[in-house]
Amino acid sequence: MSHLSIKQEVARRRTFAIISHPDAGKTTLTEKLLLFAGAIQIAGSVKARKASRHASSDWMEIEKQRGISVASSVMQMEYKNCVINLLDTPGHQDFSEDTYRVLTAVDAAIMVVDAANGIEPQTIRLLQVCRARNTPILTFINKLDREVREPLDLLGEIESHLGMDTIPFTWPIGMGKSFGGVYDLQLDRMRLFRPGQEKRGTDEFIEGLDNPLIQEKFGSAFDKAHEEISLIKEATPDFDHDAFLAGKQTPVFFGSAVNNFGVQEVLDALVKWAPKPGPRQALERIVQPDEPKFSGVVFKVQANMDPAHRDRVAFVRVSSGKFERGMRLKVSRTGKEIRPNNVVSFLSQRRDLLDEAYAGDVIGIPNHGVLHLGDVLTEGETLQFTGLPFFAPELFQGVEVKDPLRTKQLRTGLTQLGEEGAIQVFRPEAAGGALLLGAVGQLQFEVVAHRLKTEYGVEARLMPSRYTMARWVTSDNPKALRKFMDSNAAHIAYDVVDALAFLITSPAQLRVAQELNPEINFHAMREHA
Ligand code: GDP
Repeated sequence: MSHLSIKQEVARRRTFAIISHPDAGKTTLTEKLLLFAGAIQIAGSVKARKASRHASSDWMEIEKQRGISVASSVMQMEYKNCVINLLDTPGHQDFSEDTYRVLTAVDAAIMVVDAANGIEPQTIRLLQVCRARNTPILTFINKLDREVREPLDLLGEIESHLGMDTIPFTWPIGMGKSFGGVYDLQLDRMRLFRPGQEKRGTDEFIEGLDNPLIQEKFGSAFDKAHEEISLIKEATPDFDHDAFLAGKQTPVFFGSAVNNFGVQEVLDALVKWAPKPGPRQALERIVQPDEPKFSGVVFKVQANMDPAHRDRVAFVRVSSGKFERGMRLKVSRTGKEIRPNNVVSFLSQRRDLLDEAYAGDVIGIPNHGVLHLGDVLTEGETLQFTGLPFFAPELFQGVEVKDPLRTKQLRTGLTQLGEEGAIQVFRPEAAGGALLLGAVGQLQFEVVAHRLKTEYGVEARLMPSRYTMARWVTSDNPKALRKFMDSNAAHIAYDVVDALAFLITSPAQLRVAQELNPEINFHAMREHA
């Protein structure tokens, strides 16, 4: 049992995710952060998980790993008296809508950039979600032990993609074979690079930029860095904590995750600067994190180990109060009571951290379809939080059942999988149109086909679709909406909650539709109703 008050427990929470493009070094950084925080066992399982994921590109393997993946989707560690929750975003080949939604449950993000590649496509997609929510972002530029791009170049690129000022906290001296280390602009000292460094407390520093020792050791690499640092000091604004919290500035760190270098600076900055859990807006009122009563929201639903039993785990981010095992909770949407006893354990450094949860923490509640995405759990009050987003799919496939006698099962299955958020299902308005599946990751289709078969006994046939985009449409003018629907009847569909969507084959088609229909709003995102 904690001897701290709810307010104190909330104040020491830091909940974040790491976003990156595959191979930028997210797994490595995760592992090193855990090592620095002393969570050695968790670090081991992170590596194991990635190894197993790479052992086979066959998603069936991933299916088998679901148990591991549930457990390691939230990692909890204690560092400098803070409780840090690291939420995994599967940014790899199993990229899916879940990845986006996880970002709605964090208070900050660390962006990992491969210094040779700069900002890459998958990072951009994830950044868009962070930007839409003004999530504060720390930037880690990785792989300085290789020949990489010019640091100033990288900063420019990051600024233009993020629309944020980059504030270097450290600056690299040399790169690749001549990588000497990083200069800490906050502490005015250089940390010397040693490859393969595993232990802590053995670091070497040289104090002061004008220290002749640095010049002596690193020669021209230092001269260049010195010039750049002077330039930066002149050209960049001071770090402003409020600007960071508002998502207007990102502190930047250079390093090499695999060499355990530059990682501690990021962890220290996270603890020092990243926000504690804040208030959350519900339709009814604003919910403060340190209110005595528990509330939480389901931001992700994942099928668990035993697909035959439709066993799923609802991931609940605590918004307020204190969760304890066995407490009675009410689902706001249905009024149903649940009493979660067998809460799923995520990876935690300390047993006692698992027994209670505060704002910012995540609990996993196994259930059989009682809990849906976006559901709010409370001690009795009815609350509805806004802001759980559904993103317009980028990939589409038509779906038909092989055996027409199973049509009903197909509909049931797709409705349930749609509610769970595994895939988006569109029902075309035009009579006779096949149901359409929409996803942001290719793997979602395979998972859904497999689950239809194993959980609903339906052999589904997936067919290519000409659609490449969708937009939800609304209008303040019902007549204009009617007219739009009539003139685009072949492209109109409804999603699982009967929201109206416009199916599109090309960006040009969208542009034309927008020009012709000024009274129609086209939305790339729909918030959970
Ligand atoms: P993820 O896909 O983003 O999780 O990337 P990983 O952490 O698995 O890293 C991808 C590859 O880059 C692996 O082979 C790592 O060993 C390598 N890597 C990670 N960090 C560094 C680094 O600082 N320097 C170098 N040279 N390689 C790195």
